Formats: sequence, C-alpha cells, structure tokens
Amino acid sequence: MHDASILIIYTGGTLGMQESPRGLVPGHDIETRLHQAFAALPPARQASLPTFDVLQYAEPIDSSAATPADWQRLARDIIDGYSAVEASAPRYSGFVVLHGTDTLAWTASSLAYQLQGIDRPVVVTGAQLPLETAGSDAPGNIEAALRFAVCQDFQEVAVCFAGKLMRGARTRKWDTHDFDGFASPNYPLLGELVDGQPVLYPTRGLDAQQRGLPRFELADYSAFEESPVVRIALWPGLSTRLLEAWLLDDRVQGALLEVWGSGNIPDDPALTGLLAQASGEGKLIAAISQCPHGPVSMDTYAAGRGLIDAGVLPADAMTPEASITKLVHLLAQPLSDTERRQRFLTPLVGER
Ligand code: ASP
Repeated sequence: MHDASILIIYTGGTLGMQESPRGLVPGHDIETRLHQAFAALPPARQASLPTFDVLQYAEPIDSSAATPADWQRLARDIIDGYSAVEASAPRYSGFVVLHGTDTLAWTASSLAYQLQGIDRPVVVTGAQLPLETAGSDAPGNIEAALRFAVCQDFQEVAVCFAGKLMRGARTRKWDTHDFDGFASPNYPLLGELVDGQPVLYPTRGLDAQQRGLPRFELADYSAFEESPVVRIALWPGLSTRLLEAWLLDDRVQGALLEVWGSGNIPDDPALTGLLAQASGEGKLIAAISQCPHGPVSMDTYAAGRGLIDAGVLPADAMTPEASITKLVHLLAQPLSDTERRQRFLTPLVGER
C-alpha cells in the first residue's frame, strides 16, 4: 500500500548543492538529506509534514543551464505522477519541485502553460543557501512548499519562497542574495505562512474555468534546442540595423520587446517598418514594459502607436519569464498564426 501524498522532484539548484574544488555543484542523494534536515525540526513541525516520495534527477543541474527541454521533462514527470500510467504506481495529490533560483520563474511559468487546468497544487521552490549550510533558508522553504502542496483548494502552479506563495506565471527572481528573493510585482500573493501556518487567499486563485479541469498541453519543445524566441530590451540610440539581424533571421519565430514606460518606442519609421515586416512574416512579437510594475498600454502616446500598427501584441503586465515561455509554448503547438495571436492575448493561467 502506497501512502505518500506528495511527490518531490529534485532538479538541482543551490538548495541541493555541495562544495567541490570548483565551487558549489549540484549534490545527490537528496532524499536522505531531506530526512536529515527535517529530523532537526521541532517535533510539532515534523508532525505537520505530509508523507512524500522523492524523484531525483540522475544529473541535477544548476538551473542557469536549463532549457525548454527541461521544462518539458518536468511537466511530463508531474503528469506521470498525477495519472499513474501503471495501476500499481502511486498517484500524488500534490507536487513540490526543487529547483535552482536563477531560472525558477521561467520553469514555473512554463509548467503553468503545460499543466493548464490542473486540479491540484504544484509548488516550485529553491533556496539561496544549500540545505546543510548553517542558517540556510532551504529547510524552511521546502517545509513551506510541502505544507502548501497539501492544500487541495489550491489548484495551480505556484512559487513558494520565504513564506510567500505566488502565482508561478507572475513570479520573478527579485534579489540575488536575500532570503526574500522572489516577488510577484503585478499580482498579489496567493497565500503566505502566518505564524507558521499556511494561509490561502482563495479569491486570488485562478478563476473556476481556469482550474480543476486538467487540459494538459504537452507540446513538444524538443525542436527548440536553440530558442525560437529572442528577447530584446530597447536602449536609447538603438540601431535598427542590429535589430534586423535578429528579427529577420529565419530561425527566429518570435520576439519579446521590452519597451519604455507604458509602451513606447522611438518614433522611427525604419524601426516600425522592421517590426511590421517581421510580424508580416508570421513572427509572433509581443511587448512588455521595462518598468517592473504596471501594464503596457500602447495607445496612450503617439510613440506607442507604431507598435500597434506593426502588429506587435501587447503583453499587458506579464513578466518577461511568463511572456517568453508563453511564446515558446504557443510556437510549439500546431496552431495558425491567428490562433497563436489570439491565445497570446488571452489569459490562459492568470498570467495576464
Ligand atoms: N545558480 C543556482 C541555480 O539556479 C542558483 C540557485 O539555485 O539559487 O541553480
């Protein structure tokens, strides 16, 4: 009889790293190490932890090396644990993903698109310090993630860090060192630990039509060894000629432009012409603001109208991570250009 309720998937990251002559490298045997870390918690906190199994990747990575193929593998492993392909295999009621912090927000965003409609918690967490380092944030972050992963009213992909529960597709790494290292700049917390207890804010969860009815979209990202999407942050004095090299490259199928303020670009016909040409070739081009807070509204200034005229899609207040992973996700699916554009503008998982 199998009674573990949660599957922990260990992908690597500082959380599980150990010293080597070359500096910190991803460590192994995370299951034993987790049990050792939890054994040091006060008895009441140990007792409040759910039972769990651990799936440890044979080659844990520093998440700075993650690619779309890693996002895809993770989604598939979650679905395997979700639906138990073989009758004797366990089915889990919640998932905790242990991940490096550098690209954690990208993975969480991608999982949200791949696991659309999921009816149980998927909680991604990491740490600024390794598990065994004195005073590390790792044990507390994993403990909190496990506590939220058993909350069955919570049905989406989230990031749990420093006691805060944030929508995965709204989260960004915010600090290189501080334990309070992640933020959800344009959406409130989904929950938080209050006096050590997990508290959810249900009105901030996904709308009823976006959850509870899995319609997984396991698009094949394997063709994207080399990303089909480029990320271009505008800078004063930018050269349209340099942008041409990226936007007109045949391998580029989509682009995220990080424009100024509420959605402005230089009033330069060569630039708008280039954007119109690339978008006319069927490239999916979206724009967010370089400001971390607030949406783009490209029709406020004349300087923004050029984006609309060129067919650039407003990405509202989406994070760069959620925007690029959405472009990748849509490009991986057999959709027409029109369908891709429509779906980019539609909130799929509360990302906009
Ligand atoms: N470089 C590490 C990683 O992303 C950083 C971390 O985990 O905090 O895997």
